Amino acid sequence: MPAPAKRYEHDLSKFPAASVSEYSTLVCLACTFDIFTSQLGLAPRTAYSEIKRYAPTVQELTAPAAARPFFDSEEKHPHCPYCDAVKRWHARLETLRLEGSKATDAARRALLKSLPGKDDQFQVIETKSDRRAVFFEWLDTLRAKVDFDDPAWLVAATRAFLERRDAKTDWDQVFAGVRGVRRSSRLKENYEREDSRLFLAPSLFNDVLLVQYLLSRSHQSGGSTLAGRLTLLELTRRFRRGDYLNTHGITESDQFEILEQLVADIAGAGSVKLYYIVDRRDFLEKVKSVYAQYAA
Ligand SMILES: [Zn+2]
Repeated sequence: MPAPAKRYEHDLSKFPAASVSEYSTLVCLACTFDIFTSQLGLAPRTAYSEIKRYAPTVQELTAPAAARPFFDSEEKHPHCPYCDAVKRWHARLETLRLEGSKATDAARRALLKSLPGKDDQFQVIETKSDRRAVFFEWLDTLRAKVDFDDPAWLVAATRAFLERRDAKTDWDQVFAGVRGVRRSSRLKENYEREDSRLFLAPSLFNDVLLVQYLLSRSHQSGGSTLAGRLTLLELTRRFRRGDYLNTHGITESDQFEILEQLVADIAGAGSVKLYYIVDRRDFLEKVKSVYAQYAA
């Protein structure tokens, strides 16, 4: 008997972690069939072939708050929030987003070529964005993973930022056993390990404070950072000390202008190509089994 075909899995070992984002959403097929049959008036058989061909948009796949027939749930046996349908009516769509760059061009082409071409199991969507938008999406993705009640998030966020800034370093090794991150006035640039602490040069430390502020800010009480809870005014006051703003080419004094220009400098300028790889395998399987029940 032939061995069962191996399930295809992406090999992401050639891509820096910071250039890869993952999204996951559930789609309710009971709702979907309802939209196609009741609202659009299609016969079940036509609805079935339309749904099978359906290619979700980037917005539907990645929106932080899903809209019908899409929904998000962490539960093991979720019910559709719109029609209460149980699990066998749900399909999961996993999406991988790769940021285009010269360094990853060859690896990306190889990955796209390796996707099984059969039955549109994978859908590839190419879009163009700008670095600023990508930076804020990166913050959104990171924020969704962070547990702000656990102070360890400050170290995790430091690491995420350093990884994004420099994908070539082995950050597993740098951060092994790190329990705290401190500012070092002795260092001119980069970082240094000492026991369980990671010391950052003042400028890099400020970059990290900015990222932590952006991740955790709320309108009233500011954001929490390695330097404690800071309002934007307190944060920019810190930034005015030393030559931090100078090195970022900032001469403004208004707190909002300073924030705006620092973000522009850290996020980078110009456009970037984005490649979304949508895994439709579960969707195709579920559409088939649901239709069998639906038609019966
Ligand atoms: Zn539903």
